[in-house]
Amino acid sequence: MTETAALEVRDLTASYGPVTALDGVTIRAERGRITAVLGANGAGKTTLLRSVSGLVPTSSGQVLLGDRELTRASAETIARAGIAQVPEGRGVITELTVEENLRLGDLLGTARRRQRHRLEQVYALFPVLAERRRRDAHSLSGGERQMLVIGRALLCAPEVLLLDEPSLGLAPQIVAQIFGVLRELVDHDGMTVLLVEQNARSALSIADAGFVLNLGRVVAGDSAAVLAADDDLRHAYLGF
Ligand code: ATP
Repeated sequence: MTETAALEVRDLTASYGPVTALDGVTIRAERGRITAVLGANGAGKTTLLRSVSGLVPTSSGQVLLGDRELTRASAETIARAGIAQVPEGRGVITELTVEENLRLGDLLGTARRRQRHRLEQVYALFPVLAERRRRDAHSLSGGERQMLVIGRALLCAPEVLLLDEPSLGLAPQIVAQIFGVLRELVDHDGMTVLLVEQNARSALSIADAGFVLNLGRVVAGDSAAVLAADDDLRHAYLGF
């Protein structure tokens, strides 16, 4: 028997009015692994993440965190259950300091000592944020802002971290640094990461497994190595 996945999505369907964005999507993210969700613009990747976090209503299917069913639960219940999302776009509050932005991530109201401990963990992962903790977020580069929004999500100490296009617009060495931190979270802390990326080549270089979406359907799901070695799949859907 296969082990229960940390996160499982079964036959999920979601629409925006007449537009079907997810058409029976089934994926699983194994515990302590990085699972990539790949596909072109409009494939349904963002909708999938937002459905899992309770931000987009679904019409059928299931979302399971371990054995716990979270289908159609509120976004707050889902966050409390242990799923945190890093949305696309690096929304930081530029008038607040780095540390104030990080504290905003503590949606669940952790005790002060524990919050301090988590802040120190984030600073250990991203030393540049520690250096700039008292500076306004306005002064940060794109890569630093991406680190900040990831750090903010970590303040909830999630079991499952969902990331939407963290590499977008960043230089390759910054992407490598951020992906290295994801790898560390998975390997050292046993976190489970679901990584949405259009940059399939980079994503498959750090992911353990992946699913490819096209027009709201899963067209492939396998280990990262198998997906990266499939020439037809790469040419048809992955753009490299
Ligand atoms: P991208 O990388 O461009 O964000 P994606 O793979 O994340 O692409 P989604 O954003 O999930 O894809 O979009 C899936 C489909 O749903 C597309 O056809 C898109 O046009 C449509 N869609 C997404 N958001 C909305 C919305 N708010 N209203 C109407 N249609 C939408």
